[in-house]
Amino acid sequence: MRLSKSSYTQGIQCPKMLWMDCHMSEMRDESVMNQDVLDTGNEVGDLAMGYFGDYVEVPYDPADFDGMIRRTEELIANGVPNVCEATFAYDGNLCMVDILRVEADGVHIVEVKSSTHINDIYFHDMAYQTWVLDKCGMAVKSISLMHLNSRYVRKGELDLHELFVVEDCTAQVAEMIADVERTALALKKVAAQDDEPKIAIGRQCKSPYECGYLAWCWRHLPNPNVFDLCRIRMDKALKLISQGVVSLKDATGKGMVTNQRQKAQVACEVQDVEFKIDAPKVKEFLDTLTFPLYFLDFETMQPAIPPFDGTWPYQQIPTQYSLHVLRAPNAELEHYEFLAEAKGDPRRSVAEHLVASIPLNACTLAYNMGFEKGRIRELADAFPDLAPHLLNIAENMHDLMVPFSKGWYYVRAMGGSNSIKAVLPALFPDDPELDYHALEGVHNGGEAMRAFEDLYGMDPGEAAIVREQLLRYCELDTLAMVRVWEKLREAIATPQ
Ligand code: SF4
Repeated sequence: MRLSKSSYTQGIQCPKMLWMDCHMSEMRDESVMNQDVLDTGNEVGDLAMGYFGDYVEVPYDPADFDGMIRRTEELIANGVPNVCEATFAYDGNLCMVDILRVEADGVHIVEVKSSTHINDIYFHDMAYQTWVLDKCGMAVKSISLMHLNSRYVRKGELDLHELFVVEDCTAQVAEMIADVERTALALKKVAAQDDEPKIAIGRQCKSPYECGYLAWCWRHLPNPNVFDLCRIRMDKALKLISQGVVSLKDATGKGMVTNQRQKAQVACEVQDVEFKIDAPKVKEFLDTLTFPLYFLDFETMQPAIPPFDGTWPYQQIPTQYSLHVLRAPNAELEHYEFLAEAKGDPRRSVAEHLVASIPLNACTLAYNMGFEKGRIRELADAFPDLAPHLLNIAENMHDLMVPFSKGWYYVRAMGGSNSIKAVLPALFPDDPELDYHALEGVHNGGEAMRAFEDLYGMDPGEAAIVREQLLRYCELDTLAMVRVWEKLREAIATPQ
């Protein structure tokens, strides 16, 4: 078996993953491979190549790694100072170095990550590369990790030296190199064995990356089980399982489930009932709201590379909003919406329309309001002239998720999630009006982000269709909130 950087680090996370890839890859859930994340990695990697000045990239050819190795040797021999995707192999261990800096006394390895922080798994990645290069006779002088700087705020042209942070990891990696050969051999041995490795499920199933074989390895767990408890930490769920507490019924009466949301979840399973509603608490929440009610939801884009002045890596930049307004309990529902132009910075236009749509001191509802409040506060920071009004909207915001996250309103079908995408079908099963699958083109926040970013460059006809899809998607988000609010009102009107 040939190891690569990614298969080596995958094996570090869990050797069984490698075995599954070799013997049962058809069981892999491909959805854990997020194409947007891969695209972001490529975008950041391409930009990073220019950080150290002139460079030459070795063209990727999965059918001809030997050719890539020969090209790397040529570039080094020709005195190219920075070789990107520099390719080496030793005894079936392949690696491509993101940026190999070639100097008179030896080479410097630079590993590029699109994240804004260091993860322990990166050290294994760098140790593997260093070991392969050592074995290939290269004099490795230093190993660095280059990642995005979360504190960088763009002003004018992109400043690569501010956008990226380069951290010298030579000392930490040096301590790990001695183990790489033994580990690589052990991983190849596991991959080659006939029998499925006996490895218990554990933290490695979700950390540092979610594994694609959960459905296979976790199939012995009942449905639902303690991993499905709302907001349970992985360590706690594993501890419960080690104590024989596996199903939600196992968890009852043992003081292991402490918050009200989890208690409601367990109670429904134990008593075999479909919902638990604490009507007085729901009423208390509804009594904090005053008409007219403004139901607000943003869509955003989140580029790794800040595209506009005053933005930073991975900032959630609002691109559109939907607003339903209910002026009195039985008034006709009003709808307002705004979607920025795809070209240029959308923030000013979003902020201006928002303050025009929501008056001062209005009772505004968002679902999981931390997100909307955060975006509004960032708009206020960016546009001081609009800040008093924007901050007033944020200060008067109420969170429609509270009755669900507190466990005052629980429907069994919600499982362990309070997200609107779990609550809505639980409250309104088979309601075509609230079915995201019935929408054209855009069905979730990720697709909305991608669709907005793709608008730029579309011909006008295509762009008009996609803009309409974006508007209808966002409209459904706030219509869903209105229907959820109505459901809460019903709950306190109907004796349980
Ligand atoms: S689900 Fe867990 S145990 Fe199974 S291969 Fe993945 S990480 Fe390993």
